[in-house]
Amino acid sequence: MKDLRKDFPALQQKINDHPLIYVDNAATTQNPKVVTDRLAQFYNEGYANTFRGVYGLGEKTTAAYEQARLKVAEFIGADPQETIFTQGTTESINFVATAWGLNHLKAGDEIVLTELEHHANLIPWQQVAQKTGAILKFISISEDGTLNLDNLDSIITSKTKFVGCIQISNALGTTVDIKRIIKAARAVGAPILIDAAQSVPHIKIDVHELDCDFLAFSGHKMCGPTGIGVLYIAKRMFDSVPPYQFGGGMLSHATYETATWLKPPHRYEAGTPPIAQAIGLGTAIDYLEQNVDFEALKADEASLCAQLIEGLEKMDHIRILGPIDQLKKEGHLVSFVAEGMHAHDVAAYLDSYGIAVRAGHFCAQPLFTKLGLDAAVRVSFYLYNTPQEVDKIISVLKDLPRI
Ligand code: PMP
Repeated sequence: MKDLRKDFPALQQKINDHPLIYVDNAATTQNPKVVTDRLAQFYNEGYANTFRGVYGLGEKTTAAYEQARLKVAEFIGADPQETIFTQGTTESINFVATAWGLNHLKAGDEIVLTELEHHANLIPWQQVAQKTGAILKFISISEDGTLNLDNLDSIITSKTKFVGCIQISNALGTTVDIKRIIKAARAVGAPILIDAAQSVPHIKIDVHELDCDFLAFSGHKMCGPTGIGVLYIAKRMFDSVPPYQFGGGMLSHATYETATWLKPPHRYEAGTPPIAQAIGLGTAIDYLEQNVDFEALKADEASLCAQLIEGLEKMDHIRILGPIDQLKKEGHLVSFVAEGMHAHDVAAYLDSYGIAVRAGHFCAQPLFTKLGLDAAVRVSFYLYNTPQEVDKIISVLKDLPRI
């Protein structure tokens, strides 16, 4: 793959006198200069609100915003109508839980999730269950962090009225066989939402081919700005998904007593949208499409995982979490614990060498509780990481002080 590091000014810096090794990409990725330049251009060259101004600048802003939607839609194989801008994955899922869940689920209905879910795809459904009397059920994990799908028929049944599933675990790196879960949900007529926060940045997704009802992801994990995310809503769901928020920009006519709505996507975007962020995401997608072959990216990231795993396996004070064989073949992150040292101390130690990793429960606390852990260290890769950086991480970890 091309050397893309030069495109990322943030990667050129030193941290604690060491060249920055940024391997916290599952939390957020760095922005290439083309993205920050586009943001600056948008703000500096005169910007306006969308859909309101009947003047040149307003029309230009609206066109740029809709152009960004088109790029995102094409990137995931959706129609622009089905591509809703939100603040991020968390808001996308809260959208579905509030607008669809609270309006359709009732006492006794079953919501099926997996034990791998990020809090973003768990807590909103806990809230829906508490408010409606619906019941939460979970597809369990096995010891290696993959899902137990053998008894799927006994979990997704005629009582299942909604399924929510992560595609790639941000905590363990597991890739889930979502096609199988989507098929099972379809078979019982339950809508299914895919949390694609860790997948869309790394693998090519086609939502129509997947045949899911909802799919959520964030711009800031794929070289875009923060404050922008996407919710794909399949056209067939439009009639059963009322607006999530109400106000300007989403209605076609209002009286003091009532109002009628615009067609999607605008029905689902009340108020001034995250205009600059959407345009920045559009530029990030252009950047990815021009520079990244997603098959090659997957192979490169998996090879960095394999290199790191091989290094860690030689250290008897380190225990790797998750499905090691799968991570070596198709992973983009590796989580581990160090004997006798808290994950936060490991992260602080690595930081003293300029290595930025995440430590904690990665917003998957129930999963960590099930694993008998309170925290781990996570090294997560993206398109600018190199084998030399992995060598450095391994050599620093070899000397990890034991307490
Ligand atoms: N789901 C997964 C799998 C994630 O990794 C994250 C981010 N860590 C989220 C949801 C939440 O994304 P955001 O904070 O951008 O809303």
